Amino acid sequence: MAERSFKYVIVGGGVSAGYAAREFAKQGVKPGELAIISKEAVAPYERPALSKAYLFPEGFARLPGFHVCVGSGGERLLPEWYKEQGIELILSTEIVKADLAGKALVSAAGETFKYQVLLIATGSTVIKLTDFKVQGADAKNIFYLRDIVDADSLLEAIKAKKNGKCVIVGGGYIGLELGAALKINDLDVTMVYPEPWCMPRLFTADIAAFYEGYYSNKGIQIVKGTVAVGFTAHDNGEVKEVHLKDGRVLEADIVVVGVGGRPLTALFKGQVEEEKGGIKTDAFFKTSVPDVYAVGDVATFPLKLFNEIRRVEHVDHARKSAEQAVKAIKAAEEGKTVEEYDYLPYFYSRSFDLSWQFYGDNVGDTVLFGDNSPTSAKPKFGTYWIKEGKVVGAFLEGGSPEENKAIAKIAKLQPQVETVEQLKAKGLDFAMKI
Ligand code: FAD
Repeated sequence: MAERSFKYVIVGGGVSAGYAAREFAKQGVKPGELAIISKEAVAPYERPALSKAYLFPEGFARLPGFHVCVGSGGERLLPEWYKEQGIELILSTEIVKADLAGKALVSAAGETFKYQVLLIATGSTVIKLTDFKVQGADAKNIFYLRDIVDADSLLEAIKAKKNGKCVIVGGGYIGLELGAALKINDLDVTMVYPEPWCMPRLFTADIAAFYEGYYSNKGIQIVKGTVAVGFTAHDNGEVKEVHLKDGRVLEADIVVVGVGGRPLTALFKGQVEEEKGGIKTDAFFKTSVPDVYAVGDVATFPLKLFNEIRRVEHVDHARKSAEQAVKAIKAAEEGKTVEEYDYLPYFYSRSFDLSWQFYGDNVGDTVLFGDNSPTSAKPKFGTYWIKEGKVVGAFLEGGSPEENKAIAKIAKLQPQVETVEQLKAKGLDFAMKI
């Protein structure tokens, strides 16, 4: 079988891969030196669009509109761009075997790809209910959302089941964004999740109360404190009902499951050091294996600001870690180094006409400020997290670009707080004046 050889190979063709390619081009690569090998059939795109504008009935996003790097206000890298740069985009190609000691990857079709430097950018995959053998979870019209193929299948079902009933399983950001998108498509939406409130890993009860109230006012039913334990199907195999642990039964024409992801590290198991479920790297995204780097969702890296090592599954980190790794690779070739990665965690979500941003860490005591009434015409509210007398995290719904910048700054600078009462009284002003 064929064998091809490249100086640099990026395995995975998602967000990190696209931003890494742009950085390689910036730093200078010769034609034929760099290859991106991706299971997907399209050039790298901004994945967050899939649970937002991609599903809208009007004004929807479609490729080539959201190829990287438009999500961060950069140039849109169309397939032609890769060609012009002499970067090989090897699409619809799944790598099924990695030999890190032999510096070789093997595709499902049996092709071998040799490299000098490897960038692992395989991202995550969704956790499926079939993984837990939930009864009937293989029925038709039960969807997950990770890539454009998933999004297209969901779109087809949305069109086929006009005005039908949709059950969303999971109350994370994917569940919340999809709940809104399906409601906008005029489906009757019910969300089900086991926790006492939505987005429990980030939201406080107060923050969640706003979104749950807002969603209820939009006509979305929320069923909390229980899980889907089984599904029934019609004779044609399409899902009919969702059975909940508390005994309730919900009718469904479409089910969308968003119960989390799992980093795709299996290819490299036993060949590279892992930690916290990801591939362990240093502040330059170098792994324990020489000439092998890991970025984006799969990397467990030193988060300098909190003096901890963490894995982060957010698009902003995917972009920045990719750029950092490429800078480090190119600097190393000249015997130079770059500054250590100093990341400020940043996460955002948008649904209906809402938009929030979060920076920093969500640990310690919390202070809520602003107008968090779900019936408010223009809700704007936020929360600070305070640990050991310092603000370490900040959340803001409905902020202007300037206000969002201010909460980012506060999370980075971690100013001392005199009293919690004072912080509450000052609210957003506290961040604006830093
Ligand atoms: P990915 O972008 O997932 O790319 C991985 C690539 O590797 C894919 O192309 C995959 O097909 C390919 N691949 C995997 N294994 C192989 C293999 N064996 N062979 C070949 N190719 C392979 N983050 C936010 O901060 N805000 C948001 O609003 C937000 N919305 C999101 C909405 C959705 C629907 C999803 C799925 C994610 C969202 N995220 C969001 C998370 C964000 O998109 C990810 O953190 C980011 O895409 C990670 O980038 P990555 O390059 O590590 O992985």
